[in-house]
Amino acid sequence: MSALTVDSLELSVAGIPLVSGVSFSVGAGERVGLIGESGSGKSLTATAVMGLLPDEVEAAGSVRLSEVDHDLVGASEKQLARVRGRRMAMVFQEPMTALNPSMRVGDQVAEIMLIHGTKPDKAAARAAAVELLAQVRLPQPGETARAYPHQLSGGQRQRVMLAIALANDPAVLICDEPTTALDVTVQARMLELIRTATEERGTALLFITHDLAVVAQTCERVLVMYGGRLVETGPVKEVFTAPKHPYTRGLLDASDLEAVDEHGRLRTIPGAVPGAGEFPGGCVFRNRCTDATGQCAEAPLLSEVDDRGFACWNPVGGPA
Ligand code: SF4
Repeated sequence: MSALTVDSLELSVAGIPLVSGVSFSVGAGERVGLIGESGSGKSLTATAVMGLLPDEVEAAGSVRLSEVDHDLVGASEKQLARVRGRRMAMVFQEPMTALNPSMRVGDQVAEIMLIHGTKPDKAAARAAAVELLAQVRLPQPGETARAYPHQLSGGQRQRVMLAIALANDPAVLICDEPTTALDVTVQARMLELIRTATEERGTALLFITHDLAVVAQTCERVLVMYGGRLVETGPVKEVFTAPKHPYTRGLLDASDLEAVDEHGRLRTIPGAVPGAGEFPGGCVFRNRCTDATGQCAEAPLLSEVDDRGFACWNPVGGPA
């Protein structure tokens, strides 16, 4: 069974659809990237999986975790609180907003174990916290445990967040742009750490980012999202070397700093991501797509064969 199964997820605000018909699963120990520009619905999807949606967002469909006997969509706050930080955990982009500024970081790691009762007492939780800080390769973990968040660097704070997320051995780890605020070398070390930590524990990883290079470095499979829909899925190597969806091709061209158009300009996707509720009918990418035809007035379904899928009437390189 998959560690995480999302089925026909629909999210909307005041009747405006933000995420439509999103289905995917992540196996135990599998690393899956969810990519798209801002406004694509990727972070909202992650927020829904974590059960952290704002009150005004209506959700339908299903989000299931292995060994949790209820759906997370429609679950009560009490049910979600039992699952969050235990069966699934999240690392956010900005650790300063997620960490308690007035609490020593070791106590914050210990606290999540005490809340969920995975360690019998404070002494055991504190010892495990120091061990976790060592596992995320923080220097002098005993001393670091006694530090406050402001005494650590951005990269170190992000490691503390990872230690908190991994403390209860979750089945699913969600990372939402966890390295965007870090400089390149610190970012590379953090990505390596996320990769090895999830590999060693058999944790399913859902990695949300707009950065294709980060996905290439970290993930095995990728889900490409646009206009609140999955438009392409498949193994990272295949999708990045032979994209089938014009949007994926556009993202790849735009991330290639050496690719220029016939006028010598860097390639970009024409136009901008429309605002919520302003995507065209039919194919959501229709107003930006250079390959659009009359047929695109009808929404293409995500056709999946084996582990490869795309939602396009005129796929790049033909349908095969
Ligand atoms: S379905 Fe049509 S508009 Fe949509 S991506 Fe494919 S070719 Fe472009």
